[in-house]
Amino acid sequence: MQKKSVQQKKTKEVKKIIPKKVEPDISLIKIPRVLTVKELAEELHRSGADVVKVLMRQGVMATVTQEIDFDAAIKVGEQFNVIVEEAVEVDLFEQAFSKADDADEEKAERPPVVVVMGHVDHGKTSLLDAIRSTRVTATEAGGITQHIGAYTVEINGKPITFLDTPGHEAFTAMRMRGAQVTDIAVLVVAADDGVMPQTIEAINHAKAAGVDIIVAINKIDKAGANPDRVKQELTEHGILVEDWGGDIISVNVSALQRTNIDRLLEMIIILAEMKELKANPNKPARGTIVEAQLDKGRGAVATVLVQDGTLNVGDTVVAGACFGHIRAMVDDKGKKIKMAGPSIPAEILGLADVPTAGDTFYVAQNEKQARMLAESVIAKGRVNMIKAMPQKVSLDDLFSQIQAGNMKDLNIVLKADVQGSVEALRTSLEKLSNNEVRVQVIHGGVGAVTESDVMLASTSNAIIIGFNVRPEANAKTMADAEKVDLRLYRIIYNALEDITAAMKGMLDPVFQEKVIGHAEIRQLFKASGVGTIGGSYVTDGKITRGAQTRIVRDGKVVYDGALETLRRFKDDVREVNVGYECGLLFSKFNDIKEGDIAEAYVMEEIPR
Ligand code: GDP
Repeated sequence: MQKKSVQQKKTKEVKKIIPKKVEPDISLIKIPRVLTVKELAEELHRSGADVVKVLMRQGVMATVTQEIDFDAAIKVGEQFNVIVEEAVEVDLFEQAFSKADDADEEKAERPPVVVVMGHVDHGKTSLLDAIRSTRVTATEAGGITQHIGAYTVEINGKPITFLDTPGHEAFTAMRMRGAQVTDIAVLVVAADDGVMPQTIEAINHAKAAGVDIIVAINKIDKAGANPDRVKQELTEHGILVEDWGGDIISVNVSALQRTNIDRLLEMIIILAEMKELKANPNKPARGTIVEAQLDKGRGAVATVLVQDGTLNVGDTVVAGACFGHIRAMVDDKGKKIKMAGPSIPAEILGLADVPTAGDTFYVAQNEKQARMLAESVIAKGRVNMIKAMPQKVSLDDLFSQIQAGNMKDLNIVLKADVQGSVEALRTSLEKLSNNEVRVQVIHGGVGAVTESDVMLASTSNAIIIGFNVRPEANAKTMADAEKVDLRLYRIIYNALEDITAAMKGMLDPVFQEKVIGHAEIRQLFKASGVGTIGGSYVTDGKITRGAQTRIVRDGKVVYDGALETLRRFKDDVREVNVGYECGLLFSKFNDIKEGDIAEAYVMEEIPR
């Protein structure tokens, strides 16, 4: 009893000092997994400094612009009586068009969608032409076909849709935007030329996308044709055709003489039947934009490939930031159509803008919904532009990704100067795999790092390793834009060491000092309000503006810091070469003396 009254008394006293609000106000905020201290502070309605202080108390040193992880944010929240939860980003499109699994009986067989890939000049275009002309002209009156980016042919009453852009670049570009449209890749290999670099690339692109391959050994009409050699070479790249005990179908064809084209098509149908490709045609359509352009007379024209459902004239569609009513539809034969079902390409008119190839399109319930979704894409685009690109792997953050459990496969695109190095590096890199991470070279080839390598790396979340090779100029720009980690090495050991270090989370760049020149200070000028300028003579190399400079007097370094101003006569200059006079002014050092030697150096990151 005694105790209680004391306590009551105390409470009373406290109440006098703090009149109200004994019960803490607990609130809740939702934040992304990673955010900066400043952003967290804004969410908490506190100043950045407040949050920094709390973090410091928890032993986390961070500035306001630094990112902190979610667990730290939760703890900061606790200090302010705020419950912190992760904001789950809702994809409005997924929400609006959630892909409810159709019951089997609702689904119907759909045509396979096929892409033709292979080395340049092996006959991809010729093969696509041959297929179109043998099948389409045979069945369609007039025989004039439109190039709309995709076309459908029939063999024994079964349709097949071909994407009309040969090569893996277009294919990968679409995949990069998240579109998975193809079911089967026809790998064209010229019988007189065999497996070439782009053949290998095509194989790897197809594998990365998880599509089935059919081999078309082309140009069998040529004198030097040797299909058996092609088959044997393919085995070296994991493509085992039926003759070689594998299960990959291979057909000898001549695109030029139209030999065996039907047989190739029949084989595609057989493979498609095995894959049991199905879709539900009785629902609003969704699909992919294959091509799109602005036509002078017709406005925005887009070729779409329906993947699910049926698209009808009059439907309201939305694709990324574009939307509109379908005013008219044209098929690949130039015929006006009213509807297009699964795997059927069609050219649509009526979108307000030109959509991006590779974007998914959906049929919206009405214009309002379409507009809202398109606007959400625009708004998100703005945010993304500010917030930078989606996360890709880089060696620098590999460790954190492994720890966060985001990383199971470290995919690598490997380019080297000779085949021997590719093989040696591939084996050694893959051997680095451990229980947490599987290191996997998804593509290895000889030659410079190309745009196509960057595309593959970007879509497969891979890093690129170049060994004794350089990136092509465009590839470098693209890697930067796509935020693909591109690393160049000259020593295998260093490449392996970096990957190992990154897997352990201890990758630091290696810098090395490089002295670029010396100047002797011969005369001092006092400039009021500015400081002491050393009238100097460059004795070797050169002195550049902004270079780190140390001042050496009697063999001892008396100053080490940035060179603030570099002058020739009265002008500021970028650099002064050996044999010339110049004026030097240091930002934080005025105590220079005649006879001092200024040694300029730069820190260079040394390639590993
Ligand atoms: P792409 O670069 O793979 O699209 O190759 P093209 O289709 O442009 O063909 C390259 C060259 O090979 C052209 O000169 C074609 O005429 C030729 N060509 C394509 N297919 C055949 C074929 O089956 N036999 C012969 N002899 N030449 C072919």
